[in-house]
Amino acid sequence: MHWLFGDQLGPHFIASDEDGPGHDTPLLMIEARSVFRRRRFHRAKAHLVLSAMRHRAAELGDRVTYVKADTYREGLARAVGSDPVTVHHPTSHAALKLVRSLPHVRVGPPRGFLVPQGDFAAWADGHGGGRLRQEDFYRWVRRHHDLLMEGDAPAGGRWNYDHDNREAPPRGQKVLQVDAPYRPREDEIDDEVRRDLDRWERDGDVTFVGHDGPRSFPATRTEARAALKRFIDRRLGTFGPYEDAMLAADPAMSHSLLSAPLNLGLLDPMECVEQAETAWRSGHAPLNSVEGFVRQIAGWREYVWQLYWYFGEQYRHSNALRHTAPLPTWWQDLDAEAVRARCLSTVLAEVRDTGWTHHIPRLMVLGSHALQRGWDPAAVTDWFHRCFVDGYDWVMVPNVVGMSQYADGGRMTTKPYTSGGAYLNRMSDLCGPCRYRPRERTGERACPYTAGYWAFFDRHRDRLARNQRTARSVRQLDQLADLAEVRRQERNRGETPP
Ligand code: FAD
Repeated sequence: MHWLFGDQLGPHFIASDEDGPGHDTPLLMIEARSVFRRRRFHRAKAHLVLSAMRHRAAELGDRVTYVKADTYREGLARAVGSDPVTVHHPTSHAALKLVRSLPHVRVGPPRGFLVPQGDFAAWADGHGGGRLRQEDFYRWVRRHHDLLMEGDAPAGGRWNYDHDNREAPPRGQKVLQVDAPYRPREDEIDDEVRRDLDRWERDGDVTFVGHDGPRSFPATRTEARAALKRFIDRRLGTFGPYEDAMLAADPAMSHSLLSAPLNLGLLDPMECVEQAETAWRSGHAPLNSVEGFVRQIAGWREYVWQLYWYFGEQYRHSNALRHTAPLPTWWQDLDAEAVRARCLSTVLAEVRDTGWTHHIPRLMVLGSHALQRGWDPAAVTDWFHRCFVDGYDWVMVPNVVGMSQYADGGRMTTKPYTSGGAYLNRMSDLCGPCRYRPRERTGERACPYTAGYWAFFDRHRDRLARNQRTARSVRQLDQLADLAEVRRQERNRGETPP
């Protein structure tokens, strides 16, 4: 038998080759209720994962044994006893430990990533191990896979089109002028999952957070391919320029919304980048957008996966800034109504309603606020993991511990990602009607991000003064006439929502 985890749902997980199961090897899927009992997940996430697993089982028909059990161990024992089982390398340290501890389970290599882990380790060791740069890795992947290349040179003569991207949102537009993203239609499997979730909640067995439904992310290979096609054909062209911009009334803008189907294993990253490249070569999408998208998938996604394994199991406990504050209840409950700062309230509502926001709200609104408040990075990681439809251990740990909370002291990024209100104001339409003013750092109308930014620099001034990318802000800090007032105000903030 070959065992498929809930994030191994695409055809590439059962492709027959030397490492995969045979054409007619029987398959096993296990739905483990304890996963949901242990932690309070977003309900839309629980719905999506279970819907995707059950859809896959329905497609595979008699070939699959689908077990509903309390734990994976129990499900496995029930389905196969001690018969031999194969499985592809799972995506978390915990799951890998589990499958390796079972004597009759043989673990094959991972599927759904572009670079074998051993190759990455060799590359990283060759780069001094400590100071790795995503940009170097990304170029290596481009060369290695001949992605967007013209001979030995990058397509168009440049590796990086960031200069043409990262624009502020178009002035005067409440929504980006681009076709809407793909949205699936629910069926009876979705209804059945929803009834099960209702029953589990009624029984007091599990509790969820957030709103569920209608499902907005693909749960099948057919839906995932339709979502990819719609993005490539109708939305990729404007992806690059507005990658970093935010609009209150347009959460998706030109983003692909493909992280959930990619992380469920419904899409293979190679097909995504190849289709984007084909769109450019056939004149259907500009190079800056195509390069920006390829960078996200072949660069960032792949890098994050590799770092998760390369940095090892202890990395998740990193806490270089010694941040220990607990997450307040309004944040845990996604209580957007309790928040008066318009940016944070808008983004928290997006998470509550869909379990998704794009990269910049995650990094510069949610993550930045948590960093400025000094919240425990492990608790922040857990919160992101539970509340986002695309959240899995491998992708959350580096993105939150490393990129967003700087808890690794700079192993993943060269400086902490945080900003005052001026950046948010420049890159969004969120600040205009807000009761707080981006330029003010003290008083009734002080923007919590502006005040929080200076308070963060003040608390960590020694470390940040030694970093050439942040030293200038530390020098500016020393020129603030009202620093004592900023300190007093931030000390008194407590757990009150901003
Ligand atoms: P697009 O903007 O369209 O980008 C295309 C694809 O690139 C994404 O679908 C994704 O697969 C990939 N990608 C881009 N950046 C990253 C990255 N840093 N890490 C991994 N993949 C990346 N992404 C997740 O898939 N799961 C997560 O749990 C997750 N948590 C995050 C938490 C924080 C604090 C931050 C700062 C980022 C996180 N990301 C995560 C990365 C990124 O924000 C999302 O992949 C992206 O917003 C998903 O929306 P999209 O599919 O429209 O992405």
